[in-house]
Amino acid sequence: MSDERAERIADLIEPLRVRPGSTVRLARDFDPGYKARIRKKDGVELLSSGIELLADYQRRLAAQDTYGVLVCLQALDAGGKDGTIRHVMSGVNPQGVRVTGFKVPSAEELDHDYLWRYARHLPARGEIGIFNRSHYEEVLVVRVHPENLRRQKLPPAARDDEVWERRYREINDWERYLSDNGFKIVKLFLNLSKEEQRIRFLKRIDVPERNWKFSPADVRERARWDDYQRAFSRMLSATSTEWAPWYVVPADHKWFARICAAAVLAHTLIGIDPQYPRVGDETRRELAEVKRDLEREAPEGAAPDPYAKAGKKGKRSGGKG
Ligand code: ATP
Ligand code: MG
Repeated sequence: MSDERAERIADLIEPLRVRPGSTVRLARDFDPGYKARIRKKDGVELLSSGIELLADYQRRLAAQDTYGVLVCLQALDAGGKDGTIRHVMSGVNPQGVRVTGFKVPSAEELDHDYLWRYARHLPARGEIGIFNRSHYEEVLVVRVHPENLRRQKLPPAARDDEVWERRYREINDWERYLSDNGFKIVKLFLNLSKEEQRIRFLKRIDVPERNWKFSPADVRERARWDDYQRAFSRMLSATSTEWAPWYVVPADHKWFARICAAAVLAHTLIGIDPQYPRVGDETRRELAEVKRDLEREAPEGAAPDPYAKAGKKGKRSGGKG
């Protein structure tokens, strides 16, 4: 990875980062239609090179088996979470990625502390875990609809007026703990405008193949638009930290949102800089011995070792092998 490329990625995402300690007012601070003066046709190429980059880093992350990455995706309905996951992850080995969607909590989940169900789906070392909705629902939908809090069977002291401030702190502490222990957290909020949401809902109604994506509940949530904007703004202000900053991804242009999501993830992986494990001298000697035996077994006319000249890339040079 060239430093220049890493710098370009860092520059692209810098305006999206929520500075820890700053007070966010979404409508004032972040434009859902922003596209960094990139044209859509250049964007397509950018995304595909970003996807290749991610695939390479993911192979190294898995091989090194020391760090894990957790991507938390939050958005309003029709914000484009599913499409973002599909596109950004299209190049990576499915074995190294785990996507978990979080819906209304089950009875079993409500019988535990509120972070329990999220902790159960954390990625392992070497993995990229994606939360399609995340523990942040606990300060979003639960805050906008207090009946959700009532269902959580909390003792009185845990549901007093301080509950939201306490949850922000608990979430920050939990993320710090994860980050200190090798699990880096990428937090993306897909920031959609009210008008673009209206258009996307209409498309879901007008195009029969998209009808299944539409739920009347989405319109009920839309009616609470201002409450959600406030809850998102407070969440962004309170939980963007040095160890797990939020990025507000402009989501009105799907193609640009995908580039940004890929760039933030790439930036995190570049920071980790995972390396393929190197074997020690003794193992290398053993490998050389086995190599000699294998070469001696070559049938008549076959190259003793078709990879010998190809070097690092592991491409064969002649022979059927
Ligand atoms: P889709 O794109 O398919 O609509 P989705 O993530 O919106 O995906 P839905 O099944 O439509 O999935 O919605 C899940 C619902 O679960 C959302 O309304 C969300 O607010 C709600 N939910 C998630 N977490 C919690 C929680 N902790 N408490 C209460 N409701 C929650
Ligand atoms: Mg939905």
